[in-house]
Amino acid sequence: MASPSRRPSKAIRSRRDRPIGRRAGVRVLFRLFHSPCPKERLSVVKRVLITGGAGFIGSSLADALIARGDFVVLLDEFNDYYDPAIKRGNIAGALASGKCELVEGDIRNAALVDRVFAEARADVVVHLAARAGVRPSLEQPVLYHEVNVVGSQHVLDACRKYAPSHLVFASSSSVYGGSTRTPFREDDPVDTPISPYAATKRMNELMGHVYSHVHGLRVTMLRFFTVYGPRQRPDMAISKFTRLIGEGLPVPMFGDGSTRRDYTYIDDIVDGLLRCVDTPFDFEIFNLGEQRTITLADLIALIEKAVGRTAIIERMPMQPGDVETTYACVDKARAMLGYDPKWAMEEGVRRYVEWWRERGRAS
Ligand code: NAD
Repeated sequence: MASPSRRPSKAIRSRRDRPIGRRAGVRVLFRLFHSPCPKERLSVVKRVLITGGAGFIGSSLADALIARGDFVVLLDEFNDYYDPAIKRGNIAGALASGKCELVEGDIRNAALVDRVFAEARADVVVHLAARAGVRPSLEQPVLYHEVNVVGSQHVLDACRKYAPSHLVFASSSSVYGGSTRTPFREDDPVDTPISPYAATKRMNELMGHVYSHVHGLRVTMLRFFTVYGPRQRPDMAISKFTRLIGEGLPVPMFGDGSTRRDYTYIDDIVDGLLRCVDTPFDFEIFNLGEQRTITLADLIALIEKAVGRTAIIERMPMQPGDVETTYACVDKARAMLGYDPKWAMEEGVRRYVEWWRERGRAS
């Protein structure tokens, strides 16, 4: 059901209008008040705080916001889930633009999150920082809980206190668990997650609803369906398979190759995110996918074609936490956001492999 955006509560409005004083200690982190984003242009130029802003999706969104004239503040802890040098490379262009400030810090640190919000004075917050892998969450459930649930709680509390216009929050298709009713719709039951990661994302959705209902915080939750493209995390299937096939190394194929995924090209995800940055809702959940699926075996065949080499397939059993199918219904996002995913897998994989080759030549 569409819920038209309401104005912030009186308490929130008065907090937004109140000037927020500079606090000792934050100046050493960054100099936002000297940013080239004049306050009087805020109605046009947005100040967007992106947590996890150096990651795959966050840095791609940052570039798109900067390209259209917005100002971004990136908060990231550069953890070693994958090589932090890759994350620094992701944001080199954004930092050079003069329209970007970087804060290095951990969302598990409530005081730091509070200080960043106080200084950033963001119009919109996009919360992407998380531990993002499904399989590692089975090994480190406490870490996933601390970052994805407790860290996100700090972000919600800071939103409540500093009252940005709205919060856009990364959820995941994994909340649909082992559902076999396809395509997945936002109003499907999602109370049977099958990995700690999926459970943390569902908890985020529930707590987002609480903050919308109780505190009047406007929240948009986005269920991303396996995102791929330039800068994709190296632990994800398409980047891993491309590398292994390119180097002539065995490609582990979990299961018999019949599992299906709805892979979403990064440009479509960024387009959906921009629409959400521009459109507040009281509380909504949207699927962002392509509404198309491909089997694992066919995906490997596409990568073989783009790389120009045959894969050496190493059959492995299905992994716990892996789901059989993901398949997004994006009708709601089409109707309410104007989201219109454009990228077919053939073209998306070709573009990814092109980027991978260019990056290899450059390094
Ligand atoms: P990513 O790992 O590339 O980006 C996440 C960023 O968050 C990283 O740069 C990391 O350093 C940062 N981060 C992690 N823990 C942090 C902490 N405690 N404090 C501050 N920063 C921290 O991952 P991504 O693929 O860009 O995913 C972004 C978001 O989208 C995540 O919330 C993820 O769960 C969600 N998501 C991604 C996909 C996908 O296919 N990529 C699918 C569904 C949901």
